[in-house]
Amino acid sequence: MLTVPKHFTAYQGFDAFFHNAEGYISNACSEMSAMIELTAIEKLAKYLPIAVNDGKNLEARTQVAFANTLGGFSMDVCVCTSEHSLEHALSAYHPELPHGAGLIMISVAYFSHFVEKHACDEKFIAMARAMGKNATKAEDFIDALKEMQAACGVDGLKMSDYGIKPEEFPKMVQNTREAMGFLLQFDPIALSDDDMLNIYQKSYC
Ligand SMILES: [Zn+2]
Repeated sequence: MLTVPKHFTAYQGFDAFFHNAEGYISNACSEMSAMIELTAIEKLAKYLPIAVNDGKNLEARTQVAFANTLGGFSMDVCVCTSEHSLEHALSAYHPELPHGAGLIMISVAYFSHFVEKHACDEKFIAMARAMGKNATKAEDFIDALKEMQAACGVDGLKMSDYGIKPEEFPKMVQNTREAMGFLLQFDPIALSDDDMLNIYQKSYC
């Protein structure tokens, strides 16, 4: 892992982050999974920027690897939500798009949707606190997420750099339902096709 390039460290680190964050906001979250997910979120917020910017830092690499493993445990005792279905649709039509990069691209719009709907305010506050913020409102999680992306140098990723065009979004919404639609039932509140389209459109640049 000490020789994994900076950008792949960031992409995979954020994949681990979202495995845990999705599990935590999912309606399948339990005391068992929350314990795992909040620990992983705390470690990734603290150590991923260090691992990305100093790939030889053994302590940071170790803590990120541990948090990544916790993300696997989260998927064992809990489940991911539809952020993963939406991303796999992007990478299905554009296989050169790394999974973690696609997740980063849609993450702010995806989580903001549930923040704006007050789907699970306490959980967003708890995640923002695990990320080191003195959080009092759900929006604080979105700020923490943006800061973490900037600290890892992945806040400027663009779908257009991978040849994705907005005209493709309707077929991607359809692919989300057909290929990995089972994850939609675990979102904290149900997404409509229009909601999914909006998330793609807001993420586009
Ligand atoms: Zn993933």
